[in-house]
Amino acid sequence: MNRTRTLLAAGAGALALAGLMAPAQAAPDMSLTRFECGTPQAPVPVNPRFSDIFAYGDLKLQFVYSCYLIKHGDEYLLWDTGHAMTTPNVAPKVSLVDLLAKLELKPDDIKYVGISHYHGDHTGQVNSFPKATLLIGQREWDAISSPKPAEGVNFKPFESWLKGDSKVEPLPNDKDVFGDGSVIILATPGHTPGHRSLLVKLPQKGAVLITGDAVHFRENYDTDGVPSFNYDRAQTLASLARLKKIAANLNATVIIQHDARDVEKLPAFPASAK
Ligand SMILES: [Zn+2]
Repeated sequence: MNRTRTLLAAGAGALALAGLMAPAQAAPDMSLTRFECGTPQAPVPVNPRFSDIFAYGDLKLQFVYSCYLIKHGDEYLLWDTGHAMTTPNVAPKVSLVDLLAKLELKPDDIKYVGISHYHGDHTGQVNSFPKATLLIGQREWDAISSPKPAEGVNFKPFESWLKGDSKVEPLPNDKDVFGDGSVIILATPGHTPGHRSLLVKLPQKGAVLITGDAVHFRENYDTDGVPSFNYDRAQTLASLARLKKIAANLNATVIIQHDARDVEKLPAFPASAK
């Protein structure tokens, strides 16, 4: 008995020593892929819907619908899920499930689905990923799980999480998704109460800041523009200030999900940024 215990203790000691002497763990293999998650329509005037101070004159812009896949070692985070395949006019031409299949991935390979906010153009295909843990701002989840969700809260595709069949982690603040600081969901409220943006630190490309709808297009970002339909003006401006400081401090590539001009900041699907 004593002998066994001594041997066990010696074994544990050797393991601890090996742990101390082991070289630093290699950085995980990471990549960032953009998906087209809706069909862009003709350019539309952005005043006054996207500026509560009528800032943009006759400016017309084309909006795109972007989702992203982040690979971290053997684990995957899907960021936003775009329009549903049944949405009139703007439905994606190819579903997320079929886009993932082109990368030889199945829905069950997605460990996390991160949702920037509860609008229909970001949540439409979330129901394709019931095995994924849902990462979403607490205030967004409160709105989705409310007994009587407000207009514009696209709660229906979350049925599996609402029933408790799937896992949800409502986020009170930021979330370091993989625990090593490489992928961080950022609290950027204002567009909606619990809005989130995403920071991805890639080994080669460096930091990439994916805005969600904290900002809708480049002119919004440059001039602190606030859409007239946002939930809270002051929060929108505070979140925008935060994003700009992060971008400056990390020299990040800023990608505005709805801005057609930002699509080319990442390689075209199926290629990815490393
Ligand atoms: Zn949107």
